[in-house]
Amino acid sequence: MKIYNTLTRTKQDFVPIKEGKVGIYVCGPTVYDYIHIGNARPMIVFDTLRRYLLYKGYDVNYVSNFTDVDDKIIKRALEEGVPSKEISERFIKEVKKDMKDLNVMEATTHPKATEEIPDMIDMIKVLIDKGHAYEVNGTVYFRTRSFKDYGKLSKKNIDELEAGHRDEKHALKVSGEDEKEDFLDFVLWKPKKEGEPSWPSPWGDGRPGWHLECSVMSKKYIGDIIDIHAGGEDLIFPHHENEIAQSEAANDVEFARYWMHNGFLRIDGEKMSKSLGNFFTIREIGEKYPLQVIRFFILSAHYRSPLNFSDTLVESAKASLERILTAVSKLEDMLADADDRSLNAEEEKISAGLKDFENKFDEAMEDDLNTADAIAAIFELVKYTNSNISSESPKKLVEEGLGMIRKLCDILGIITEIKKEKLDSEIEALIEERQAARKAKNFARADEIRDLLAAEGIILEDTREGVKWKRA
Ligand code: AMP
Ligand code: ZN
Repeated sequence: MKIYNTLTRTKQDFVPIKEGKVGIYVCGPTVYDYIHIGNARPMIVFDTLRRYLLYKGYDVNYVSNFTDVDDKIIKRALEEGVPSKEISERFIKEVKKDMKDLNVMEATTHPKATEEIPDMIDMIKVLIDKGHAYEVNGTVYFRTRSFKDYGKLSKKNIDELEAGHRDEKHALKVSGEDEKEDFLDFVLWKPKKEGEPSWPSPWGDGRPGWHLECSVMSKKYIGDIIDIHAGGEDLIFPHHENEIAQSEAANDVEFARYWMHNGFLRIDGEKMSKSLGNFFTIREIGEKYPLQVIRFFILSAHYRSPLNFSDTLVESAKASLERILTAVSKLEDMLADADDRSLNAEEEKISAGLKDFENKFDEAMEDDLNTADAIAAIFELVKYTNSNISSESPKKLVEEGLGMIRKLCDILGIITEIKKEKLDSEIEALIEERQAARKAKNFARADEIRDLLAAEGIILEDTREGVKWKRA
């Protein structure tokens, strides 16, 4: 597989460190509110990468953190007058629910920053011992200039960075807040403020800096070197640049081999973000559309392209997805009545032709996870089954066509199992049959029908006016 590596700015063949195994770390959300569809983009995209690698037979260790200590969480906790932990626990639960509804698999490990503090303290100690960090009045800073490769991911030149902030630097000096050795240094540990969560450390009570979390949690749950590190493109600088500096300075080995960054979800040409206020939460969207439509919409574009969000575009994704699901449903119906006979020569050819679409799909996914072209291959497959498989086709061929659509959709995390609701008339017929069974003292059948209806969420109630029913 070829992956576009932000580190080299080229598409490279993906070669894992250990054959057959892949360690992926994806920076997860800060849990202070419901997630919006922009936040869902990296979740869906990298979950799809994981599913594809699983389908290719890799053993995937997928780690994605929850940032559960942060200024925004503390701010909300103060506003609501509750402990910070209550806010983070509440939103971890809500994010997990959204992920499930988007069919995003649970990570192998979902570490929480607050549960990894001792390891963070250990890494800071190592960095201080090696001269890469220093403490001033309870704050520990990373000595950015001590890491010679700083800027290698974002392609920023350290002197230009410094020059770009000359005015800010001056202002800090004037106000006396300039306790860092160098303006470029960033925080590894910050001292406790009144009312904030804190942990004891050799530098006094305090809490870790955001960048440090990911360096420590990826090391603990994957190792010093990770195969793929991923997140949204806004994380390239400073977050990922700082993660590299911390990890490589502490561990003396390359931190991540491949860096993947998704483009932004936009609204009217502007990025969707909480601070701009132009966002829709997954919860809001879920009231309008099945969330599988959102998953399909996100995957209909290449992950590195910006993607515009609008009702028209989501409606069009919905219609496209329905075309696939309709084909699945038709094939399922055919299957019920299909002949068990063997394939004739013509049908053998049709059967062999199915493989072409899987090859096309794979080719697209192998090319830097091109889900847009992979979806195009599924559409071609649907067209092919629509025109080559019919109610006259033998069971084996129908099964193969259906199986191929299902298999490819499954790799993208698109669910094709269609839950068909029983029609009112079918329910009423079953109720009548149950009444007849009871009259004939065939209680076993009567109970069986009751259970069958219960499994469909139909509740029966025996009243003086007869049997009434409702959907649960
Ligand atoms: P945050 O909670 O802001 O740190 O974001 C969590 C993840 O969502 C990060 O990987 C961000 O890069 C990503 N993200 C945030 N906004 C967007 C957006 N509008 N489009 C795509 N990704 C986004
Ligand atoms: Zn991170």
